[in-house]
Amino acid sequence: MIFCDECFKDEQIKSIIVGATLNDHRSKGNCPICGKKNVFLYDTEKDSSLDGFFDELINIYTPKDLLPPDYPISDVHMIADELKNEWNIFSDDIKSSDIYNIIKSLSTRLYSEANNYFSSPVGVPEKYDKEYLKIHSILVGHSWDEFVESIKHENRFHTQLINTDKLETYLSYLRKDYEKGIVMYRGRLCYGDNQYKPKEMGAPPIEFAKEGRANSTGISRLYLADSDKTCVHEIRSGAFDSICIGKFCLMKDISVIDFKQINNFSPFNGDFDFLEYLINKPILHKIDGEMGRALRAGDNHLDYIPTQYLCDFIKTLTYKSDEKYSGVEYSSTLNPGGNNLAIFYPDLFKCTKVKKYTVNSLKYDFS
Ligand SMILES: [Zn+2]
Repeated sequence: MIFCDECFKDEQIKSIIVGATLNDHRSKGNCPICGKKNVFLYDTEKDSSLDGFFDELINIYTPKDLLPPDYPISDVHMIADELKNEWNIFSDDIKSSDIYNIIKSLSTRLYSEANNYFSSPVGVPEKYDKEYLKIHSILVGHSWDEFVESIKHENRFHTQLINTDKLETYLSYLRKDYEKGIVMYRGRLCYGDNQYKPKEMGAPPIEFAKEGRANSTGISRLYLADSDKTCVHEIRSGAFDSICIGKFCLMKDISVIDFKQINNFSPFNGDFDFLEYLINKPILHKIDGEMGRALRAGDNHLDYIPTQYLCDFIKTLTYKSDEKYSGVEYSSTLNPGGNNLAIFYPDLFKCTKVKKYTVNSLKYDFS
């Protein structure tokens, strides 16, 4: 069977396919599966580097006949659909039937020895196993909503509903490094002929620090955006408002937690517990969504608490020689495609320049 690097999204698999073609000094070709032209091809008749590659992942599943009797019937799926929908391995346009053929051709031994993984639907009993979840889930078996309820109304500073060791492990997969010198932006509404000076564009002093997604009242954090456009959206300016946008330069190399990477990191990269990750993936997605969610006027300030808790926790973590994570990065919901960065140590960035803009018009999109 022949497929190509473009049939996959997973970076690890892509690089194996590219490496196999280059090592063999083969030329590129057209892919019979995804139809892409001039791509790196993998031929299961000639290449072996992906032999058995999916076996360990497939093995976390249990064929339907062997699932506990009370396992919910709505949560069984064919293995190809499961790999397509739950794991970000294959390109979106690859059909389940092609995925089935690809994994069958790479897992020939498993296919002959345990055909029921392929011929019947599969499930994951640990998803509903209270004892397993207690040890392996970031939320020690609780739902996100139960955690939110508890931290808002029961115990704010010493919650027992988070397994901090597990949370730290999964956050470490989301590390992103920034080099000294990168530029980010921060906007402030300005009035009349006033234009802020660079030193007036930074994080507010603690007495004026109002709570936000990444900080409680009285804790000053520097919220930055990846572009002037994201800034204009994030400060929710109105038509004809004047906005000062400061250009901020990073003064030293830092690492941050990038929530956006939840969907992009390869589970095949390093020593990875597939089963535990599958259990925790929905929780990580929820955290990503909560970080980026735009609060509306009238929203309860208690809604900030779960992400404030997470940001404070991240600030306590160390990485290698005591170097701390310096902030968190998340998607902008107000400017899709844009990113925001909340920095724990505002002095890490220096405002070098301020430019004043006027909002000429607003565009509403509604349904
Ligand atoms: Zn292809």
